[in-house]
Amino acid sequence: MVNDPFLPHPAEIAEVRRETPGVYTYRLRFRDEALRRGYRFLPGQFNMVYVFGVGEVAISIVSDPDDPELLDHTIRIVGNVTGALERLKEGDTIGLRGPYGSAWPLKEAEGKEVIVVTGGLGCAPVVSVINYIAQRRERYGKLKILHGVKTPKDLLYRERFRAWERHPNTEVYLTVDHPDKAWKYNVGVVTNLFDQVEIDPRHSIVMMCGPEIMMRATARSLLSRGVAADRIYVSLERNMKCAIAFCGHCQIGPTFVCREGPVYRYDRIQPWFEMREI
Ligand SMILES: Cc1cc2nc3c(=O)[nH]c(=O)nc-3n(C[C@H](O)[C@H](O)[C@H](O)COP(=O)(O)OP(=O)(O)OC[C@H]3O[C@@H](n4cnc5c(N)ncnc54)[C@H](O)[C@@H]3O)c2cc1C
Repeated sequence: MVNDPFLPHPAEIAEVRRETPGVYTYRLRFRDEALRRGYRFLPGQFNMVYVFGVGEVAISIVSDPDDPELLDHTIRIVGNVTGALERLKEGDTIGLRGPYGSAWPLKEAEGKEVIVVTGGLGCAPVVSVINYIAQRRERYGKLKILHGVKTPKDLLYRERFRAWERHPNTEVYLTVDHPDKAWKYNVGVVTNLFDQVEIDPRHSIVMMCGPEIMMRATARSLLSRGVAADRIYVSLERNMKCAIAFCGHCQIGPTFVCREGPVYRYDRIQPWFEMREI
C-alpha cells in the first residue's frame, strides 16, 4: 500500500442512520481488508472523511475502539462536503484517512467520577466517552452528563439523553436558556447546573465539548469549585485541512489542534484558550 499520509483510503458506507433532521450516523468500513484489520483508534480521535471530487472534513469517531472494523461517525449536514455526503447512499464509497489527534483520558478516569459537559448542537466527541463508559461500567464511578442548549428545539439528541438516563450509575441534567411551555427540566446556562450537581474535586474528572464560550465559562466555574485544571479536558474544533500538523490552519498558540488536540488537558491550553479571537 502507498504510504502517503494525504492519501484517503476507499471505505464503504455500510449503513446510514438518521439521528435527527440533518444529522446522520454513517457506519464506515475500509474496503481494504488488511487496513480494516490493522486500524486502531481511541475515543476522542477523528478521521478525515473525503467525498470524492468535493473535499475532506474532520469527523470524530464515535464507535467502540474494541470494534474498529466498523467506524461510526455522526455528522451534521452544514455545507459543501457534508451536503455532498448526504446525497450518497449505503454501499457507496468515500475516502477515509486517520485516526488523528489526541484521545480522552479514559484510562486516567478509571475509578473516578466522570463529569461530561456539553453544549450547543454538537456533542459528537463526548458521545464516544459516554458509549465507552456504558460498555465498561464497573471501571468508573458515577457518570454525570450535563447538557445545555439555547431552546428546547436545539436539543437534537433527546432520545439519546433519555436512554443514557436509564444507564446504571448515570445522571443526566438538561438545561435551556429559553424554555417553552412544555419544558420541564432546568433553565439557565449550563454552569448554573453546578448548584445542584455534587462535584468532589478530588475524585472527579471533567470532559467537555461545545461552544468555546460555554467551555470557558464552565472551566472557570469548575476551577472556582476546586477542580484542578489538570482534571479538566476540552475537545476543540478548528477548521482543518491536512490533519497532520503541516498546513497550520488549526494552529492555536504553539499547538496544532489536529496533533496536540482535539482533546486538551485544560492547564496545557488555558493561556491561549482564554484569549479571545484566537
Ligand atoms: C476534530 C474535529 C472533529 C469534528 N467532529 C465532527 C463530528 O463528529 N460531527 C460533525 O458533524 N462535525 C464535526 N466536526 C466539524 C466538521 O469538520 C465541519 O462541520 C465540516 O468541516 C463542515 O464541512 P462542510 O464542507 O460540510 O461545510 P463548509 O461548506 O466548509 O462550511 C459550512 C459552515 O461550517 C463552518 N465550518 C466549516 N468547518 C468548520 C469547523 N471545523 N468547525 C466549525 N465550523 C466549521 C463554515 O465556516 C461554514 O459556516 C469536527 C471538526 C473537527 C475539527
